[in-house]
Amino acid sequence: MDEVYDVLVVGAGPAGSTAAMLLAERGFGVLVVDKDRFPRDKVCGDGIAPRAVHSLQVLGVEGELKGRFRRTRGIRFYATRDGVTEVRYPMGSRYPDHGYVVPRRELDDILLRRARDKGAQVLEGCRVVGLLEPEGGRIPGVRAEKEGERLEIRARYILGADGPSSVVGREAGLLRRDPLYLGVSLRCYMRGVRDLADFLEIYPEDAISPGCGWIFPVSGDTANVGVGFMLYARREKDLNLNRLWEAFLRDTRHAAQKLASAEPLERPRGAILRVGRRGAFPRRANVLLAGDAASMTNPISGEGITYALESGRWAAETLAAALHCGDSEILALYPRILNWYYGRYFHYGTMAIRYGNRPAFVNPLLAVTSRLTRLGDKMGRFLMNCRRSDYPL
Ligand SMILES: Cc1cc2nc3c(=O)[nH]c(=O)nc-3n(C[C@H](O)[C@H](O)[C@H](O)COP(=O)(O)OP(=O)(O)OC[C@H]3O[C@@H](n4cnc5c(N)ncnc54)[C@H](O)[C@@H]3O)c2cc1C
Repeated sequence: MDEVYDVLVVGAGPAGSTAAMLLAERGFGVLVVDKDRFPRDKVCGDGIAPRAVHSLQVLGVEGELKGRFRRTRGIRFYATRDGVTEVRYPMGSRYPDHGYVVPRRELDDILLRRARDKGAQVLEGCRVVGLLEPEGGRIPGVRAEKEGERLEIRARYILGADGPSSVVGREAGLLRRDPLYLGVSLRCYMRGVRDLADFLEIYPEDAISPGCGWIFPVSGDTANVGVGFMLYARREKDLNLNRLWEAFLRDTRHAAQKLASAEPLERPRGAILRVGRRGAFPRRANVLLAGDAASMTNPISGEGITYALESGRWAAETLAAALHCGDSEILALYPRILNWYYGRYFHYGTMAIRYGNRPAFVNPLLAVTSRLTRLGDKMGRFLMNCRRSDYPL
């Protein structure tokens, strides 16, 4: 391809489309490439937390969700040995008082369409397979394949928003393979789920510990149901996603009852998560990473849409400044911004889940929070990284 774009965005998930729409809106030449064609499915729990809703409001996208998708009012945690803790948004924070459950097939399509409307060019069905050889310390572009044809795409800056297995991140030497920052999950849409309400339901039940399960209401009696665990946990226990899934459906005290007469609408599908900030370094020369590629998933909740949207916004701001000033060294700010805003929380979150995610701690904690609303709110704020003192970005 002959054109040299200002920014090439690899990946049209929430991180990539957010960055693309903000850069295109400012008049920069942006090309977004994605290996898939949209609308496409993406393995996810589909839970949009209040902090993510705030970003969607800033982007002017929430209007497309209202009345169309399930709105949620909070979270319920089910402990095996005691009652249910119900936490209601905004949990004493300044974030919105609601969330949503939006199938990613829909959400990502809405965001990509918005990026296109703002002027970003989009190339679907185009898989990036590597980076071009560096020229003068910069990466001049990527190698890609589209319908069997090989392409070279050139740009001043490259944003790798291509998810947890990021080709851009791997080729630039920015990804770590430390199991402390890698998780695996499996999800399946199921119909006939009992007693669904406007709450995300989380099941840290003994039968699947140190894994965790969820049931998120999609519409009617259909839910997004899944389980997952962190890879380091395999050192302590012989864990396997399929067995964990079976145990979730059969051996849990609460979830198994809810799912007793539910039937799957598809084969369960798995995916990896890159969590906790330190699973990747987000910059090399003129290349930035955002979202899962930059290991921006919350290590406690596994929630990554919030941070894909936020890091997409930060990446766009930094790239716009670099393009405006003609100085790529401005990109050095990006890792600092991510560390400043997320480093501490993600570090303590990683440690909290590493050492606290066991029945001997979870059961008593949920027993107390089920009785004390304010403590439940505090736990909810910690889980969702919504501090009382935060002014939403
Ligand atoms: C099972 C599971 C459940 C989850 N549940 C939730 C939840 O309920 N709530 C929540 O907030 N988060 C959840 N997450 C995390 C969330 O899915 C991610 O954090 C989020 O999708 C990150 O967005 P992203 O834009 O960084 O990457 P992605 O959404 O992964 O998008 C990356 C894009 O890059 C494209 N791509 C990949 N490789 C290439 C390539 N080589 N060339 C071109 N394009 C490429 C892909 O096709 C994709 O469109 C869950 C994750 C998993 C695995």
